[in-house]
Amino acid sequence: MNNNIKHCLSKIFQPMTIIPKNSNLSRQQVTSKSQRLMLELGIIQQSIPGCFHLLPLGLKSLEKLIKIVDDELFKIGGQKLLFPTLTKSQLWEKSGRLEDVGPELFQLEDRHKHSYILNPTHEEVAGELLSMLAPISYKSFPLRLYQISNKFRDEIKPRFGLMRGREFIMKDMYSFDVDIDNAKKTYEEVCQSYNNIFDAIGVEYVKIPVLGNSGTMGGSLSHEYQFKAQIGEDNVLNCSSCNYTANTELCGDHKCPNCGETTINIQCGIEVGHTFYLGDKYSKVFNATYVGKDGKSEILQMGSYGIGISRLLAASLEVLSSENELRWPSVLAPYNVIILPPKSGSNEETPTEGRATDLYTKLENMIPCLKNNVLLDDRTSLTIGRRFVDAKRVGYQFIIVINKKTAQEVPLYELNDIKNNSQMYLTEEALIDYIKKNIRMNQT
Ligand code: ATP
Ligand code: MG
Repeated sequence: MNNNIKHCLSKIFQPMTIIPKNSNLSRQQVTSKSQRLMLELGIIQQSIPGCFHLLPLGLKSLEKLIKIVDDELFKIGGQKLLFPTLTKSQLWEKSGRLEDVGPELFQLEDRHKHSYILNPTHEEVAGELLSMLAPISYKSFPLRLYQISNKFRDEIKPRFGLMRGREFIMKDMYSFDVDIDNAKKTYEEVCQSYNNIFDAIGVEYVKIPVLGNSGTMGGSLSHEYQFKAQIGEDNVLNCSSCNYTANTELCGDHKCPNCGETTINIQCGIEVGHTFYLGDKYSKVFNATYVGKDGKSEILQMGSYGIGISRLLAASLEVLSSENELRWPSVLAPYNVIILPPKSGSNEETPTEGRATDLYTKLENMIPCLKNNVLLDDRTSLTIGRRFVDAKRVGYQFIIVINKKTAQEVPLYELNDIKNNSQMYLTEEALIDYIKKNIRMNQT
């Protein structure tokens, strides 16, 4: 259509499908609203149960999420790296987790019959890395290393699309400190960083303590971050009297463990993040040490901090969407604005020639956060009505329609603000102004 327009819908690989309600796929494998919408609207495609292709729109959104996480972790001194996915099984034997995690591990052998695992998490790998690089001076700490990478877990029942996959994307950070006080300071800072990340996404969340139990991770201080949603697999207790919140797995579901109140509210939650203070559980096993001022080697204190990146994206959509239409946190929407030029051959086509592309360029130039976030629906063989329905289902916040009012002497643009459920006709200047004021890139 126009060489200056980078994002045209006709060029995007977004295969739309309908999954019939009673089909086999629907019954067996589509287990949540967000999963169905993401499949139908060409955001993801399943390869095998628990493994998904992330199609271009899905990846564009995921990259925005990664940017938010990277920016926040950078502020607290997080250093991004990449650990290998493949690890020799002995490392996990050494920590005792080969047996503990057992059937959830993907295990394999190489041609020499050496055993390996595909890492489901990297405490062992991080601990061993530090031990291999010893002696490291106390001056290098605190050290906060993180990666965003694919994790593998042979989940008994992969389901809800990206929310419980067998291969999924996690952000995992490992912290190393010279003593317990410093390690606890790190723990607080990472929790604050997590609050900032979840605030930026804008979906309501709860941070709940995991009392003295960190599952197979070990350690003594731990919290979960949960989104409330019907399909959530955790039960979150909230006390109406003291507002105490906890996972019922750990506190029971009869009364508040804090004040004894029995009027409690229990809701389903999706765990999107988890923080653990590990102490020396792994550093001792792997002999991850530092050299102190006095020249003596001491064991490091560790922390481990996860965010299920792919789960978090799907969980946000699960919370915000309706049965038929996707809704994104503004900061994660693959595009924020879509422009629909008239159908080709219609009466409006010639008198509005060039309006859509002009507006596209102006929006990008005048609202900096819209750079690469405006989409032109150039599938002009389709009616406006059909394209409008698609745009609403995919969940773009602002849908601009070029129609006969745009052909008037003073052109007016139809602006649909989907989040505010309103439609208005505005001059170009007023439209740009409206979007600038209402774009809300920092919340939903
Ligand atoms: P769950 O109880 O839901 O299985 P977990 O306690 O096993 O989670 P962690 O080991 O703490 O999870 O992993 C860190 C984060 O990775 C979790 O908070 C979650 O967001 C994400 N996660 C865990 N398992 C999966 C999975 N199978 N698919 C997608 N994300 C996952
Ligand atoms: Mg699990």
